[in-house]
Amino acid sequence: MAILTPLTGLTLRQIEDSLASSGIDRTYALRVAYWIYRKRVGSFSEMTNIAGGIREKLSESFSSGFLRPAERLESADGSVKYLFDYPGGRKVETVFMPETRRNTVCVSSQSGCTRGCLYCRTGEMGLKGNLTAAEIVNQVLAIPESARLTHVVFMGMGEPLDNLQAVVQAIEILTAEWGLSIAHSRITVSTVGILPAVEQFLAKTRSNLTLSILSPISADRARLVPAERLFPAEKIMSVIRETAPSRRRRISLAYMMLEGINDTDSHLDALIKLISGTTIRVNLLRYHQSGNIMFRQSAPERMNLFRERLLAAGISASVRRSRGEDIGAACGLLGAGEC
Ligand code: SF4
Repeated sequence: MAILTPLTGLTLRQIEDSLASSGIDRTYALRVAYWIYRKRVGSFSEMTNIAGGIREKLSESFSSGFLRPAERLESADGSVKYLFDYPGGRKVETVFMPETRRNTVCVSSQSGCTRGCLYCRTGEMGLKGNLTAAEIVNQVLAIPESARLTHVVFMGMGEPLDNLQAVVQAIEILTAEWGLSIAHSRITVSTVGILPAVEQFLAKTRSNLTLSILSPISADRARLVPAERLFPAEKIMSVIRETAPSRRRRISLAYMMLEGINDTDSHLDALIKLISGTTIRVNLLRYHQSGNIMFRQSAPERMNLFRERLLAAGISASVRRSRGEDIGAACGLLGAGEC
């Protein structure tokens, strides 16, 4: 039996080239991309604006490449966690989060991670492998809620900027008119700060960036986020400051609050100093206890005090609501095999 070439994950140009190499007129690529990316149709026989003979030729050489999730777990708050079983034992988790005005999917960019952040369950796994652009886009296309999605966040398993090429290609497909046509302003990539990948990401995309800061004090941060030793947050902030500000791109800091570790007055003062004079907003996150990781979440009063002091300093700040904690889908809890 002929091996079929999967089309999900290819750019329009790549689909054109693939079709041409199979003797199919490259002008059909736009219609094929429309059915796969916009209509989420995986079967060529359903692509009704393509002539029957061409549909037959397409199905002899190509497949949509959709891979459905292997498992599904639903939270009491309506969030749904999916497990995808990708080749080579690379399991990844994807979380769908419905809200009143938006439906967000949180995608993974790697199976596991090398960065070893102390508060993160994924970091305990080590790296099983990078995902391809196809495997990232598939997480958006192959979940049952796909057609209802309004936002995509790269906050699942893995450090997206350690897999920059695939992430940038996935964003191209998610945002292109011939692709899923999701606005850049509705796509956010979260990083612990990897150089020079931060600069490349800012140059190559118009999507939002979130820096997971954990602590504004370098010695503290280095204990929690080993990447700090190579790429200090101070340096990342300089890169962000030097990048021409764009009204369309949102830069934010994610600050997961750990009792007695990063929620003292001196941390708050240092945080205000780090970002004063910028338009960066701060999202204060609740810590979720898991496995052997022994931190405690900061008291709600302490989180509110941080928020109020940041606001008083002219910095946009909010305390983020946790989603999917009961199914191990909240921040820092993703680790394959929990579905
Ligand atoms: S927080 Fe992100 S970068 Fe750090 S170990 Fe977890 S997945 Fe990797």
